[in-house]
Amino acid sequence: MPVFNRSGLRAAVSYVAASLAWSWAVTHLYPSGVPPYCPALWVLASAGLLYHCRNRQLSAAGVSPDLTRLRLATAVYDNTLEGVLVTDRQGRIVHVNPAFIDITGYSIEQVLGQNPNTFKSGHHPAEFYRQMFDTLAQKDKWSGEIWNRRKSGEVYPQWQTIQVIRDDQGELSHYVAVFSDISAIRRSEQELTRLAHHDPLTGLPNRLLFSALAEQALSSARTARQGCALLMIDLDWFQQVNDGFGHATGDLLLKTVVRRLQNLCAPGLTLARLGGDEFALLAEDCFTLNQATSLAQRIMGVLKPAFQVQGHTLLIGASVGISLFPHDADNAEQLLRNADSALFKAKGKGRGGYALYTEELTAHAQQRVEITAQLRDALEQNQLRVYYQPVHDLASGRLVGAEALVRWQHPLRGLVPPAEFIPIAEQSGLIAEIDAWVMTQACWQMVAWQQAGQSLDFIAVNVSSRLFGQSTLFAQVAAVLSATGLEPALLELEVTESAVMNEPDAALEQMHRLRELGIRLAIDDFGTGYSSLLRLKRLPVHKLKIDQGFVAGLPGDDDDVAITLAIIALARSMGLQVHAEGIEEEAQARFLHRHGCELGQGYWYGRPAPLLNVAINSVLPGTVQPKAKIPVI
Ligand code: C2E
Ligand code: MG
Ligand code: MG
Repeated sequence: MPVFNRSGLRAAVSYVAASLAWSWAVTHLYPSGVPPYCPALWVLASAGLLYHCRNRQLSAAGVSPDLTRLRLATAVYDNTLEGVLVTDRQGRIVHVNPAFIDITGYSIEQVLGQNPNTFKSGHHPAEFYRQMFDTLAQKDKWSGEIWNRRKSGEVYPQWQTIQVIRDDQGELSHYVAVFSDISAIRRSEQELTRLAHHDPLTGLPNRLLFSALAEQALSSARTARQGCALLMIDLDWFQQVNDGFGHATGDLLLKTVVRRLQNLCAPGLTLARLGGDEFALLAEDCFTLNQATSLAQRIMGVLKPAFQVQGHTLLIGASVGISLFPHDADNAEQLLRNADSALFKAKGKGRGGYALYTEELTAHAQQRVEITAQLRDALEQNQLRVYYQPVHDLASGRLVGAEALVRWQHPLRGLVPPAEFIPIAEQSGLIAEIDAWVMTQACWQMVAWQQAGQSLDFIAVNVSSRLFGQSTLFAQVAAVLSATGLEPALLELEVTESAVMNEPDAALEQMHRLRELGIRLAIDDFGTGYSSLLRLKRLPVHKLKIDQGFVAGLPGDDDDVAITLAIIALARSMGLQVHAEGIEEEAQARFLHRHGCELGQGYWYGRPAPLLNVAINSVLPGTVQPKAKIPVI
């Protein structure tokens, strides 16, 4: 920019002209000599002229204070790293700076005249924008984090300040938005959070994050009344690997261990590295001891085979400590501590094993594991037996049916009652095989009785609630009926109250399909669970079996009397048959008969036995001796 432009030149010329005029005037007006005040006037006039010229020169050079500011602003606008966008009062973009182009990826031509909502990410609800414009209307300014979309489609966070610009009349003329791309900051924040909560070697959650996750899982489990298990895992020979082969090998080994453990992980399982060679696994929705111990066995199983690391074959194995929520602890910290002491116990017993926090649980769990394994053998080696218990008509005393009850003829323990192995079979899933086997045996037996001329009205078989929730039950029953040739109407399936009430929709569908087959359905142990009368009314069942717990108190116990009478009245009002179990005395049978109960079963009539004692046409319950014995097939 030149220092003199045309007006500057004009000022200089005027200065020279004024000086010449002054010299001429002084020479001609005062030929006899200059009065003494003239030099002072000259100095004053010169100073005035110089001042005037200087101003002209400066303005000629274009450096008025306003212009200076404008120029500075332009320089900042062009060179700042912040994106700048200016819109007119209608919101049309009128200016953007080079940083805007860099950040958004749009060219100037693509955005001029557009509305900034072109860059919306869809990340914010309409309410967010409404509040933003409210603030602008009230304060002329808004700042905050906003997520926008680049031309590439990438959504990124900006820190944005929007300023309203008003004209001299105070009317809104423009909006200026200045923003910085804070995606890098967000990324480093995330990275910092990740580093603070994860183990850098394996990428697994560290103790801090694991404790928080466990606390969260426990609080959901508390609400849903579910159980959780915390398994603390320690590698058995890791220290020796580290000492013998160095830390680099140790680190690689840890990474391989994690890969094997991660293969076990499924939704609801959280794995963490707590430090060194110690890991923790949180199993949500793990209520039973059996689930927790089988998980521990799977962990030990996957870590048992040799690891190949840097040309070395390494055998390490693991020990596991288990603590259960809510059995052992009611918060995450305590659960971790208990799992730790269980781990200590496991290590103390020799490596490669697991221990539970409480002693008796450890023994119990091991027993269960043994029983599960033995039960598998029992099925293969034909150690299960079916016993039959007679069911009588209370009015006539006639034998009308039988209930099939399973027993386990254990080679060492003798005859094991179902209470000791059915719950374990239910947890391990073996119950499906057991129930199918019992059902087949019972149906064959019924066919044999019929062929022998001993006609009963029904043979009852217990079906685990586990199977009742599965859609395969129907197919299984149909297969047994077709294999044995038993008339469906002669088969009665007993299912517990909880099985039909807990999953009402699945159970209802299952029951309807079973009924379509033509079989009979009974609700076992009625009165011990929770029944909704409304649901009960919708169930296509034939019979309610009064639980033996109520029969035991008859006829003396007022509560048992009241409950029994209520069940009989309920069954009759719904047109259902009513059947009492656990009749041990004649007085109980008479009481039940008098109050309208139709069928009875119990030691008074006969204990479950491999050979059924058949007493036909008894007049009074318990008064007739057995007439015939039919062998089990
Ligand atoms: P449940 O179906 O309620 O069977 C009746 C139980 O009461 C039988 O016990 C029977 O022996 C016993 N009992 C019968 N009369 C009397 C009596 O007068 N007094 C007393 N104190 N008890 C009597 P058990 O055979 O030990 O069976 C127990 C439970 O095991 C059965 O209860 C049933 O829920 C289950 N169960 C038995 N066999 C099977 C099976 O094959 N599959 C399934 N899923 N569960 C079975
Ligand atoms: Mg039963
Ligand atoms: Mg029962």
